[in-house]
Order: sequence, then structure tokens, then C-alpha cells
Amino acid sequence: MTDLTRLTAAETAAKIASGELTAVAVAEAHLARIEAVDEKVHAFLHVDREGALAQARAVDEKRARGEKLGPLAGVPLALKDVFTTEGIPTTCGSKILEGWIPPYDATLTKRLKEADVVVLGKTNMDEFAMGSSTENSAYGPTGNPWDLTRIPGGSGGGSSASLASFQAPLAVGTDTGGSIRQPAAVTGTVGVKPTYGGVSRFGLVAFSSSLDQGGPCARTVLDAALLHEVIAGHDPLDSTSIDAPVPPVVEAALGGDVRGMRIGVVKEFAGEGYQAGVMQRFSESVELLRELGAEVTEISCPSFDKALAAYYLIAPSECSSNLARFDGLRYGLRTGDDGTRPAEDVTSLTRAEGFGPEVKRRIMLGTYALSSGYYDAYYGSAQKVRTLIKRDFEKAFEQVDVLVSPTTPTTAFPIGERVDDPMAMYLADLCTIPSNLAGNAAMSLPCGLAPEDGLPVGLQIIAPAMKDDRLYKVGAAVEAAFTARWGHPLLEEAPSL
Ligand code: GLN
Repeated sequence: MTDLTRLTAAETAAKIASGELTAVAVAEAHLARIEAVDEKVHAFLHVDREGALAQARAVDEKRARGEKLGPLAGVPLALKDVFTTEGIPTTCGSKILEGWIPPYDATLTKRLKEADVVVLGKTNMDEFAMGSSTENSAYGPTGNPWDLTRIPGGSGGGSSASLASFQAPLAVGTDTGGSIRQPAAVTGTVGVKPTYGGVSRFGLVAFSSSLDQGGPCARTVLDAALLHEVIAGHDPLDSTSIDAPVPPVVEAALGGDVRGMRIGVVKEFAGEGYQAGVMQRFSESVELLRELGAEVTEISCPSFDKALAAYYLIAPSECSSNLARFDGLRYGLRTGDDGTRPAEDVTSLTRAEGFGPEVKRRIMLGTYALSSGYYDAYYGSAQKVRTLIKRDFEKAFEQVDVLVSPTTPTTAFPIGERVDDPMAMYLADLCTIPSNLAGNAAMSLPCGLAPEDGLPVGLQIIAPAMKDDRLYKVGAAVEAAFTARWGHPLLEEAPSL
């Protein structure tokens, strides 16, 4: 019998629609897999067994009644614990939200339910999505299924690990500076940061509102496209949501082709700090694009070397304002409320206990950068750099259709290696951050294993805003060519667990 956890989302949906499989059987297989391996991986913070089975039963009943099923009906999904889920805990990986049960669904959660996707549970993440390794979670780290002693990326390490360990064929992440793409790169999976405003942020607990973007995670490009289509689209509840048709991502994924496309290699993403095996796989990808008929040129984006510095002023500034709502009075944890203490004291005791060190570091940095006398020097300068980065992209996209680069400078690093060295941790997002600052669309997909450590390497594709379909067109072509060459890293070669 085929192992139902090894199927792609597209195959699973087709088999459920044709009656070859029931949604309940698919859900049960994934719940059993979670039971078998998640003690080791720790991808999930909460598994909603009853809810998942009820959703699956509803899909089977719908089919029995002869109702038309959506393209992902009955497919299991792992949801990052930063999206609100009515009646189901939402912690954002933080102690401060322990015990909080949201009274409403995020728009994204609602869309998943309306599409009859079966939500298995909530995945582990760096606290409030701040980090690149999932080690900043208050609930302990997640292991990379390729090597459990290494990080699965972050902040969405639970989502990426759930895919790579076959606990779910689909997952959702959020990408503020790379938290969908970097975990995808280091686990050999596919992750897409849609154009800013392409997927609703309503009910996505805010870290840095001008950068945060929810998006699809999967094991194949087509599966990511199918999920993209379900979660994207205008939402009147999010004032930055784009009121325009969703780019034709599924069509693009089905018609992967790069012939005649102009592809730019970002010159700045190379050199010191880049692992040799990562650069080798990246060069081979560029060669492959040429062989497939793309016209490849080198493009310089001179402001990108300031992106990291600008990001680490803008993101903490916005977070220092967004996280002010966690005051010990409204949500989750409350410390020291003995009936005599003033509310201010309860707030500070709650924050002292409820926030972890990285969150505190960023609130302090952000508060400082926004304070009078420093605002222009720090926050103001960072915003200027942001404009320069946008201009670099605009100029680049006058010459090419998409840009490519490695997604990360290195493969998955060992758990513990960078946790006490914030700068080293921040460098993991060097190549992903510019797209968040500019608001355009970007994907990471597997491009092989690094020869020196046998760990997955990610290829990043960047497209102009609202041209998300180009990611899928190029991504599908690359995936097909690589699969023909060495087999898909995940579909054919299970990581050791
Ligand atoms: N690693 C980056 C940070 O720590 C990006 C996080 C994210 O995209 N949520 O801020």
C-alpha cells in the first residue's frame, strides 16, 4: 500500500476527489505520522486531532452528497502558530500568550477552512517570528529532519520541518525578513513570500507590519501554487491588502518554462561568508537555466549590502510598537496580580517573565531607534536605505524578468551554534531581506545537496511585485529539470529520522 504521507498535495486532492482515498484516511495517516516522529522533530506546538478529523469527515460527506470539491479539499496542512485560530491556542512561540485562545479566525485560517483544507495543528516558531533557527521559541527548538542536531531554519522552522518529515504535505509560514524562504532552503522544501499585500494579514499576529507576509510552504512548486491561490486575494479587513486579481500562479506552475526569459544573477550575493557547496549548487542552477533557454546576465544591486542594517532598525522599531499590546491585562499570561499592585507593575512583571531575550532585545533597540533625537539618525536613515533598495530592484527589473541568488549563505547550522551570537544569526537572512524591504515576491526551492555536508541548498527566485506567477513559471522549470537529473530530494530520498 502506498504511504499516504509521501503523496504530494496535488495527488492527494485528486485521489480524494475521485474517491480513491477518503479525507479521513489521509488525515489519520498524517496524525499517525505526527505521533510516530514529532516527539523527535518537535514541529508542532499543538495538534488538533479532533478538529482535523471533523474537517476530513466533512469533506468525505460533501463528496458523498455529490458536491464539487475545491482543488485542495481534504489535504492536511500545518499552520504556523502566528495565525489566530478560533478556539485553538495561538502562542506565537511565546510564554506571554500561553493559554490564550483566540475568539476569531485569521482571514487566512478562514480561507483554508472554506477551501476544505484539513488543518492538523499549529507549528513551532521563533518567539513572535524573531529569529532564523526556531531556537527562540519559548517551547524548545525544532530539529531539522535531515539532521536532528541542526536547525530547521526560522522563524517558521516548525512548518518547514513538518513538510520535510512528511507530517504534512502543506504548511503556512510568514516572511518578515526570510522566515518562509530560509527554512525552506535548509530543509529542502519550497517556500514563497508573496508580494506584500497579496495575502491578508488580518489575524496574523503582527511583528513588523510593513514587512510581514504570510505565504505557502510545500514540497513541490505546484503544491505551493495551489495553496497560494487558496490563501491569496483581497481582504477588506486588511488595509494594505491589494485589491487586484491574484497572479495566475497555478497556471504558471503547470507551464514551467524559462525559454527566452531574462534572468539576472545578483552580483552582491556571493563572496566571503558563503559556503563553497552552496555556491557550487547555485552556479549549477544558473548553468541549468542557461541550458533550459534563459538569457542569463549579472546584475548589480549596490544598496543590498545595507539591507541587513536597515532591516534591523525598521523591524525592531515596528515591533516595539506592535508588541506594546502585550500588557498582561488583555491576553494570556498575567504575573504578580495580587490585588494590591498597580497595573503598571503587573505589566512589567508580566513582560519580564513572558518575553524571551531576543524579543526584549528588539523592543529595546526599536524603542531607542524611535526616540526623539535619534529618530532621524536611525529610523529615518533606514527608511532612506529602503528607498534605495527599492530603486535597485526597479532598475534591475528594467533589464531582467526575475533575479536569482542562493537563498542562504550556508546550509543548516548546528542547534546552539549561533544562539548567543545575534549578528551571526542575523546573517542567515542576508539574501532574503531585500525583498521584504521592497515588498516584491520571492521563492526558495531546492537545488541539490551541498557536497561537503549532504544538506539541502536553496535557490532563490525574485520577481517584481504582483508578478508572483513568474516565480512559479521559473521554479517549475528548474524543479522538473533537477528532478530529471537527480530525483527530487524529498520525494525520493527520505531524510533519516
Ligand atoms: N530572521 C529574521 C528576523 O529575525 C526574519 C524573521 C522573519 O522573517 N519573521 O527578524
